[in-house]
Amino acid sequence: MAGPASPPADDPLDFLALDGLLDEDELLLRDTVRRFVTDRVLPDIAEWFEAGVFPVEMAKDIGALGLLGMHLEGYGCAGSSASAYGLACMEMEAGDSGFRSFMSVQGSLAMFPIWKYGSEEQKQEWLPRMAAGEAIGCFGLTEPDSGSDPASMRTRARRDGSDWVLDGTKMWITNGGIADVAMVWAVTDDGVRGFVVPTDSPGFEANDIGRKLSLRASVTSELVLSGVRLPEAAVLPGVAGMKGPLSCLNEARFGIVFGSAGAGRACYEAALSYAKDRHQFDKPIAGHQLIQRKLVEMLVSVQRSALLAIHLGRLKDAGQITPAQVSFGKFDNVRQALDVAREARNVLGANGITLEYPVVRHMNNLESVFTYEGTNEIHTLALGQAITGESAFR
Ligand SMILES: Cc1cc2nc3c(=O)[nH]c(=O)nc-3n(C[C@H](O)[C@H](O)[C@H](O)COP(=O)(O)OP(=O)(O)OC[C@H]3O[C@@H](n4cnc5c(N)ncnc54)[C@H](O)[C@@H]3O)c2cc1C
Repeated sequence: MAGPASPPADDPLDFLALDGLLDEDELLLRDTVRRFVTDRVLPDIAEWFEAGVFPVEMAKDIGALGLLGMHLEGYGCAGSSASAYGLACMEMEAGDSGFRSFMSVQGSLAMFPIWKYGSEEQKQEWLPRMAAGEAIGCFGLTEPDSGSDPASMRTRARRDGSDWVLDGTKMWITNGGIADVAMVWAVTDDGVRGFVVPTDSPGFEANDIGRKLSLRASVTSELVLSGVRLPEAAVLPGVAGMKGPLSCLNEARFGIVFGSAGAGRACYEAALSYAKDRHQFDKPIAGHQLIQRKLVEMLVSVQRSALLAIHLGRLKDAGQITPAQVSFGKFDNVRQALDVAREARNVLGANGITLEYPVVRHMNNLESVFTYEGTNEIHTLALGQAITGESAFR
């Protein structure tokens, strides 16, 4: 009788054979996005990062791949599973966190609220063009004095006849300066509401934030709203209160669980390849014990992060994921990726500080990912509350 088949050789790039957890369609999508990143993003990313630009003309190409709002149904969206959306985020961020941020903001922070809470008219007007990358969206929640505690926002929307008039300032808004439409969250007499604001509205201004040393291939802006007058139809009819913006953030964070695993993986792969080529003390540095230890720590970290992401994807596809479980993934995968990036930077020695290699770019990008969509501390508190029943936010 034939015994069990012998196991295949260890694969340093898929050590736990995680590809076996993905179905054919998922592998195809993963490979398609990976090819796009290899062919279209990696050749120029160092220049975009150095110049501090996001190549906005690529929005339509990303739309043509079906990646914008891909987990939404109808209105030109692909209707993919949550796992498929996550895998696309993983590959995009293995290229650059700026590209994954573009995708997350467009799909989860700008399109999702319109899709979930918008009127039929708002959906028809914006979603098909946004799915195609012909219209770009941004999400304005954070303000200069309101970050981790967004409920303390000061932007106000007041009624004037049947119109709404918005005043306030939003800060650190991804895609702000390139957006055609801004999802702006503002306080009204009835609590926080979401507004669909065309960026050519009189009184709307976007000022790009310069001197960033992180997420340089991404546009980050201040939005100033000075008496922006909007019709009644600009408000999202389907949601009131902080549930609106928080539910969007939960969608986007899910993408970060996968995306950060992709950035960490790219750093591990760069460090492994470099360590095998670089010779010091008469042998590849990969043959020195201290380097091997770093590579092994990175391997374990990136494989564990990918496994966690895939597991959370399956939970989300089954409709079983909780916001605290998404916090678990964001909290752990981003800090793991940042640690991997810092160790990989070390393994590359002096080369580790240049844009000739992807590592320092990922390392700097991950500092933003660590902070946005709920800082590491805020997710610690969310998890603490979930397991103790006690809120320690205030
Ligand atoms: C590149 C980039 C892009 C961004 N894009 C967007 C966007 O598109 N839309 C948007 O609305 N926002 C965006 N943000 C803003 C981001 O969400 C905020 O920066 C984030 O929520 C943190 O707010 P803050 O920077 O004001 O820090 P603060 O809230 O001031 O926090 C400062 C420090 O205090 C800690 N802290 C705060 N409260 C507590 C507490 N209760 N207990 C313990 N520690 C605490 C924090 O964890 C942090 O370490 C972006 C930020 C960056 C950097």
